[in-house]
Amino acid sequence: MKIDRVRLFPIITPRETGVTNQHILVRLDTADGATGWGEMSDLSHLPLHQIDWPALERQLAALLVGQDPANLLRLEDQLLRAFPEESYKYSRSGAVRQGVDAALLDLVARAQGVPVHQLLGGQLRDKLKVCYPFFALRSVEQARQSLVRLAEKRAEGFDLIRVYVGANPEADVVFLQGVADQFAGQVAVKSLDFSNALDWRRCWALTERYTDIVEVMLVESVAPAHDLDGLAEFRRRSRWPVSEHVFHLFHGWQLLRRGSVDILNLSPYLLGSLSVCLRLVALAEAARASVLLGTTQELSLGTAAIAHLGAAARVLDYPSDSAGPRLYTADVTRAPVQYEAGYLKVPTGPGLGIEVDEALVAQLAGTGWSFGTNFAAARDRTPT
Ligand code: MG
Ligand code: MG
Repeated sequence: MKIDRVRLFPIITPRETGVTNQHILVRLDTADGATGWGEMSDLSHLPLHQIDWPALERQLAALLVGQDPANLLRLEDQLLRAFPEESYKYSRSGAVRQGVDAALLDLVARAQGVPVHQLLGGQLRDKLKVCYPFFALRSVEQARQSLVRLAEKRAEGFDLIRVYVGANPEADVVFLQGVADQFAGQVAVKSLDFSNALDWRRCWALTERYTDIVEVMLVESVAPAHDLDGLAEFRRRSRWPVSEHVFHLFHGWQLLRRGSVDILNLSPYLLGSLSVCLRLVALAEAARASVLLGTTQELSLGTAAIAHLGAAARVLDYPSDSAGPRLYTADVTRAPVQYEAGYLKVPTGPGLGIEVDEALVAQLAGTGWSFGTNFAAARDRTPT
């Protein structure tokens, strides 16, 4: 089996919150008719410049055509040389590798007639507990609207949320008090996510204030990016486990070695492959640390890849963040990934277990940045 063709399909999908997000789908074909699809998910994050996708398509073809797709570790190594680690939460390199990695896994598993988790060593679980996100609140009015959306999400079966906090404490308090008053016993709060926007001391003061209102399972990104000492200062004082996004394998080691976190937040969009995510799961296992699976808000293809990762992860002791297919109001698949009672079900079909509908790919084709130069909107995922 040899890769014969690499194609990229830029698309735009709307979200229920009114913003639109870019993604690039990856299609790999072999000369003997095997196909795999992957997804570079949610490219609508800073930096402001976007991927020159025709150029990227040519470069990926130069790298991949003629190679055996089943040689997954060799290809991962080559992709890592071509698209190096970037130490940034919205790494473009990570997204490129993520899309190709998923397409390779989909292609190889389909050719073998097995689900992707079989390629990862088998299945430890058939569903993952997930939470629904509430993005940063800039106003009390937004907080009230978010409580209305929470009632809708509760009706859809979500009973766990994560909340981006710190942008406007008054709005945070209104939202969290609403959660406590209107949803007690129905909705739990997985995490308060400070998004690396505040120093650890400010995060600590707000955590103490907010946890007087609602109990939370964990806190995330409670210091500026790269501030390992700030995270460790917070963690020494905290009865809540501290989670942080992992940029790359060595970063995972640094976070654990320095006592900066309890939980590694692992995500293929950032780390670039399911295989490196599993190596970080092993690192967490060795350190007796915890793991959760993060998100940038993937479509069904990207979410399915995370579900297969979760199926095969030996350590996975906190709920995952994969709710993308419930945020977007359009997708490119014949049927989306399935959610049931607050769980994401691991697809059972061959490959990623998701069938791409090429008519929908054509319908959603396009590129475009929806946030202008309003960087708070880009970060908070709110309409400008
Ligand atoms: Mg986060
Ligand atoms: Mg995102």
